[in-house]
Amino acid sequence: MSKERKFKKRHCKYCEAKIDTIDYKDVNMLKFTLSERFKIMPRRLTGNCKKHQELATIAIKRARQSALIPYIVDRKNVVESPFDLIK
Ligand SMILES: [Zn+2]
Repeated sequence: MSKERKFKKRHCKYCEAKIDTIDYKDVNMLKFTLSERFKIMPRRLTGNCKKHQELATIAIKRARQSALIPYIVDRKNVVESPFDLIK
């Protein structure tokens, strides 16, 4: 239940911002879909629509290859919550 509360608003943030393409260089946009350990969040938690989830997934994987986002995060330097930084 607590997890449900955290993501209670189920609107696609990319649709709200009216974004058609997600650029892998725009890490701030990708953070909507990333967890605090830089994992790709499932759609049922973020509320992204299918189209944007797929775009974000591709962009995140590209960003990882170009070292903009880490593949794994050490236990020591975990960001508290990337969602707080965006708001
Ligand atoms: Zn969308």
